[in-house]
Amino acid sequence: MPYEAVIGLEVHVQLKTASKLFCSCPNQFGDAPNTNVCEVCTALPGSLPVPNHQAIHYAVLVGLATHCAINQASVFARKNYFYPDLPNGYQISQFDKPLCEHGFVPITVNNTTKKIGITRIHMESDAGKNIHVPAENASFVDLNRAGTPLVEIVSEPDLRSAQEAVAYLKTLYGIVTYLGVCDGNMEEGSFRCDANVSIRPVGQTTLGTRTELKNVNSFRNVQRAIEVEIARQQDVLDDGDTVIQETRLYDAQHNTTQAMRSKEEAHDYRYFPEPDLIPITITDQEMAAWRAEIPELPHLRQQRFMAMTDLPEPEAEILVQNKAIADFFEEAAKLANPRKVANFILGPLSRFANEAAKPLDPRLWSMTPSHLAELVEVVDAGTISTKIANDIFADLLTTGKSPKDYIAEHALAQISDSTELESLVRECMANNPKETESLRAGKTKLMGFFVGQIMRATKGKANPGLVNSLVQKIINEH
Ligand code: ADP
Ligand code: MG
Ligand code: ZN
Repeated sequence: MPYEAVIGLEVHVQLKTASKLFCSCPNQFGDAPNTNVCEVCTALPGSLPVPNHQAIHYAVLVGLATHCAINQASVFARKNYFYPDLPNGYQISQFDKPLCEHGFVPITVNNTTKKIGITRIHMESDAGKNIHVPAENASFVDLNRAGTPLVEIVSEPDLRSAQEAVAYLKTLYGIVTYLGVCDGNMEEGSFRCDANVSIRPVGQTTLGTRTELKNVNSFRNVQRAIEVEIARQQDVLDDGDTVIQETRLYDAQHNTTQAMRSKEEAHDYRYFPEPDLIPITITDQEMAAWRAEIPELPHLRQQRFMAMTDLPEPEAEILVQNKAIADFFEEAAKLANPRKVANFILGPLSRFANEAAKPLDPRLWSMTPSHLAELVEVVDAGTISTKIANDIFADLLTTGKSPKDYIAEHALAQISDSTELESLVRECMANNPKETESLRAGKTKLMGFFVGQIMRATKGKANPGLVNSLVQKIINEH
């Protein structure tokens, strides 16, 4: 039976505030365990939360950029559950009066643009982290992350494929990094997602039973996890069984999903309004000021880059996928031909990132925008060929050397000395008498053979135009 997939995503975005959501501890990743903690975020009796205004500000920016209605009066709620990394025994979240509701973001897949509904965006504080050390047969709790401000962005079940889900995620990722409210570090968990997946026979309007996939922490894994879960549900239904509503864990290594626990319902959490906090109120002045802060968002920036480079949409999209790479491109494109700059980003730079399974993020390498512009310049000037530029690209990225210095150090400059090249061509012809004869007899296809030989002999350093004319010249000598 043909099935249709239905997907809704819950995206958790860590807000890049200086301090935590309800205390003044630093909101910082990577410090020694339990050093960024106080009586509030460790829930000592009698401590009281104080809301972080900057976090509310950032959350409203996310709501505005996703076309949400902002509830200028909004309420925090307790979500009660027990887990060792949650010292309060409840998470401060929002329930029936979230900060933002009823928004949308546009996504483009296969040249078709579609609006994905946003049900709600609410604020909540993150839990700590349990660290399990099997070798010591022990578990530890690190509360540094406890109390970190998050927004949870809940989508409508509007997505119909893994590809659409990834496009939606990338769109959101672009928005929060452009707004500067999230550092976008997916490996550290600053932007993470749970995927709700169900399937139904094509034509059916009611929703099928969903499973919720946890632990999907890269765009690629989101795609794979959803695909493999859709296939699993199809097998279940085809076998005449029913899908069980549950939380499943994606195992990236084996590319499977495994049942983790049965799905809890909202009433399991015994939500009630947080008695230690008064409602959030946002003034009209704040709304106006924050609205004015929304920068050029990826969608519009992409259109501008397309005009600068003449690139088609999918390529231009890569250039704007995060603000850091877009800024990197834009800075280099001020100093050199924008299209050529873009070609290096889309070619060798993207390959490098892909091979390392890293995002296209200039913070992960040492090349500066002006070095990239310099590389375009030395290729334009004929100092090195595009091929050599591509070959040395990874080295330039990791060493942070200026292309000119690198070329000098490795003696890579193109050989444009015709005496040197001419003797190489003559030698090559002497070694390949048959081919030389045929070329002379008018088999012009063999030009390529000789140019290829010389390029190989010089490890790509010969100026191909010059080799071409030298071969021509020698052939015509007789
Ligand atoms: P919970 O916290 O219980 O998972 P939420 O309301 O926070 O509930 O999130 C539910 C998510 O699941 C939303 O993104 C919603 O679009 C999605 N969803 C709900 N029903 C289905 C379904 N049948 N199939 C796929 N996704 C669904
Ligand atoms: Mg959920
Ligand atoms: Zn604290």
